[in-house]
Amino acid sequence: MTTISLLRITAPYNRNMCASAVAESILTKYEPVIGLEAHVQLGTKTKIFCSCPVEFGAPPNTNVCPVCLGLPGALPVLSRQAVELAMEAALALKCRINELSRLARKNYFYPDLPKGYQISQYDQPLAEHGQLNLGVGEERKRIGVTRVHMEDDAGKSIHDGFADSDRYSYVDLNRSGTPLIEIVSDPDMRSPDEAYAYVTELKQMMQYTGISDCDMEKGQLRCDANVSVRLRGAPEFGTKVEVKNLNSFRFLKLALEYEIERQVEILESGGKVRQETRLYNVSTGQTIGMRSKERAQDYRYFPEPDLVPLHVSEHWLREVTAKLAELPSDRRERFAAEYGLREYDAQVLALTRELGDYFEAAAKASGDGRATANWVSGDLLGLLNASGRGIAHSPVRAEDLGELVALIGKGELSGKLAKEILPKMFETGESAPAVMDREGLRQISDSGALDKIVDEVIAANPKQVEQYRGGKTAVLGFLVGQVMKASRGQANPGAANEALKKRLG
Ligand code: ADP
Ligand code: ZN
Ligand code: MG
Repeated sequence: MTTISLLRITAPYNRNMCASAVAESILTKYEPVIGLEAHVQLGTKTKIFCSCPVEFGAPPNTNVCPVCLGLPGALPVLSRQAVELAMEAALALKCRINELSRLARKNYFYPDLPKGYQISQYDQPLAEHGQLNLGVGEERKRIGVTRVHMEDDAGKSIHDGFADSDRYSYVDLNRSGTPLIEIVSDPDMRSPDEAYAYVTELKQMMQYTGISDCDMEKGQLRCDANVSVRLRGAPEFGTKVEVKNLNSFRFLKLALEYEIERQVEILESGGKVRQETRLYNVSTGQTIGMRSKERAQDYRYFPEPDLVPLHVSEHWLREVTAKLAELPSDRRERFAAEYGLREYDAQVLALTRELGDYFEAAAKASGDGRATANWVSGDLLGLLNASGRGIAHSPVRAEDLGELVALIGKGELSGKLAKEILPKMFETGESAPAVMDREGLRQISDSGALDKIVDEVIAANPKQVEQYRGGKTAVLGFLVGQVMKASRGQANPGAANEALKKRLG
């Protein structure tokens, strides 16, 4: 599993996100309705119906056999690992897994589909009735998941990159038979930003649980968007359009923004939206009609005769459930409840499994979750980002960060001094006490040394001392500041406050 670079952290979800690029005037009158169909490649070593390796970038047509080439007479065998990963995904999406599900042939012709059909699931999918939560606490929004089903991937048509690409297209069947799940959402999203948040959450969930790396550059997460608009308050949904060819989250958002405006324009000019499949064109930023929407009967679905129905026993389900790692949404809620974190911090710290683990180890060492959260999400992530490193390569160990936070809590270190110490820990990998000893940055807690500084400050500021004694006690803050300054930040502010009060009053 690759570590997600922290440089790519996106803003956490909140309910008030607006569809930034869609004109306000449109959104006061119309409401967008969005449902997504996501294809996720399962992280198996081998294909779903044969033992060919799944390997990105191998020489064309080298990872193939009679089964995934679709040669007559070759028989598929369903991969147990693929089914288990699909079950994990379904459980992560809080779906009900059907005890009995069936694989089905979805027939269509395409050069990269040598069998002439895709093996998918139709009326008896693996799992149904799930949900995915965006955000945390008050900001949480639930998006329904209609179904999760398994299918095999097609091969790949290559239209360019060859000397004769103007005349020929080539087919690489290495990808043919790669295990996928399709995750169909309910039409529950109401803005392009919410759709963006949904796919972000989906990707995070798949990576957390180890179901898929979801590397979009390798096509491990692909997404089609269904979108319609309706007058606000209208009881029925409008006619939907399916947009394909969205190979990044940014394009998903841009395509939806474009499509919403296009549909509103049609309705405003008295027209009707045509139900169809459209393609997003990256270079123009527009969607273009590709074909009128195909219907289920066009595919002549029928049960796959070469595979027995899939039976998921209670025992197997329990086994897979036990293996499932904590989900990001559950973790966010737990962080908020258990450590009293603010919603923003809970989201940031649960962003990756590594970051969450780090935070928890540091919080355990410090005994103060909230303060630890501030140090991790603020200073430490800042240092990591600046050096282009992920949390897994943090030179500051979680236990050492926890110790730093604990030292502040015990009053042995001021926050100001700690901010100087952390970058030094980051540089050398040393613990806080080691840096403090080496740099002579011990906080002045011995009262003799502190009293001496307090006396100097009193002697140097007769006017303020007089004001204080005359009842203007607010001036004490200024004097504490002078003590801090004179000690170069090494005095304990609380102790300085006490010592000044004692001396002055
Ligand atoms: P189809 O019969 O075209 O396959 P489905 O009802 O199976 O349509 O839905 C496919 C996807 O489209 C789902 O993700 C669903 O949430 C979404 N969807 C359905 N109706 C609408 C609508 N009116 N507007 C936007 N999305 C919709
Ligand atoms: Zn094969
Ligand atoms: Mg459908």
